[in-house]
Amino acid sequence: MKAKYSNQKEKLNIKEIEEAAEEIKKGNLVLFPTETVYGIGANALDEKAVKRIFEAKGRAGDNPLIVHVSNIKMVEEIVKDISDVERKLINKFWPGPLTIIFNRKSKEVIPNVVTANLDTVGVRMPNNEIAIELIEKAKVPIAAPSANISGKPSGTNIEDIIEELQDKVDYILDGGFTDIGLESTVIRVIGDEINILRPGKITKEELEEVVNDVKVDSHVLGKVGKDDVVASPGMKYRHYAPTTSCMMIYSNDENKMISRINEEIKELEQQGKKVLVLGKKEHLDKYIVDNKWNMGSDLNEIAKNIFMLLRKVDKEDFDFVIIEGVESKGLGLAITNRLIRACAYNYIIV
Ligand code: AMP
Ligand code: MG
Repeated sequence: MKAKYSNQKEKLNIKEIEEAAEEIKKGNLVLFPTETVYGIGANALDEKAVKRIFEAKGRAGDNPLIVHVSNIKMVEEIVKDISDVERKLINKFWPGPLTIIFNRKSKEVIPNVVTANLDTVGVRMPNNEIAIELIEKAKVPIAAPSANISGKPSGTNIEDIIEELQDKVDYILDGGFTDIGLESTVIRVIGDEINILRPGKITKEELEEVVNDVKVDSHVLGKVGKDDVVASPGMKYRHYAPTTSCMMIYSNDENKMISRINEEIKELEQQGKKVLVLGKKEHLDKYIVDNKWNMGSDLNEIAKNIFMLLRKVDKEDFDFVIIEGVESKGLGLAITNRLIRACAYNYIIV
């Protein structure tokens, strides 16, 4: 089976979004863009359809999916209650890259397979016209994880993932490059406190404008031990990783970071390894290596490019990749969270 392809890059083709929505209604899978990354979507109310997502991705059954909605009524139908703080967050950040973990209404509404049997459900309203039209036309909430085989970097453009996924989905909506490039911020609100389970474009600092107390879960930057109990099952799994070995190196002193990276380059090249460096545009000149790729000049650019670059690495024949780290503040927290996982926790802070 090969999916039908629809080009929505230049302008929306509503007729084809309607066709894709028909596939959702039939229990089939649609690859579609959001403002964060691409998603593999199915009718969140259809257990069989959602099971197909897990098969397509090779995703562990205990890793729940985010449910995407196009209006508040859809949220009210699936969650038990919306607190005042949650309403404030919805008003401020939706549509947008913020997933809120709510208590779920009843097991009959959202099937267990979506929430991995948890009593909670993660919901967000994407800020992308194609995604919103798709949900509106399908008239059901759409469960959608990131578009990638589990463990690999998430898809930020169709070219990167078409080979991997075209035989696994029924319809492809191509909206070009995604705006943000990293998955949504995932939070749980408890009373007047927010706990960040996965950092993303909506930063701790922005959430602090709504409540005073915003905590970052210890597993966001810490390594997850084999027997650790985690607040969000996705934290446990290998993620975002290219096949090529990589290492992240960071220092808040730029010169120190650059010289440490150069030392590593020397050592790896002495071992006969072909090395690639991913660094900020402004630093590339300073690296003593032939292969160096520009990650971008600021955090927004780096977020947008990083998954595409990690995928590109595997198309070439490098033995080792050294990646510059960024300060883990603002959007930098999300970038750092993804990079240390991409490097399988092989990182040095100097
Ligand atoms: P992805 O679908 O790749 O964007 O991953 C979704 C993330 O949201 C995973 O890390 C999940 O563990 C997390 N998530 C989804 N639903 C829940 C939930 N009910 N409770 C906690 N975390 C959740
Ligand atoms: Mg994912």
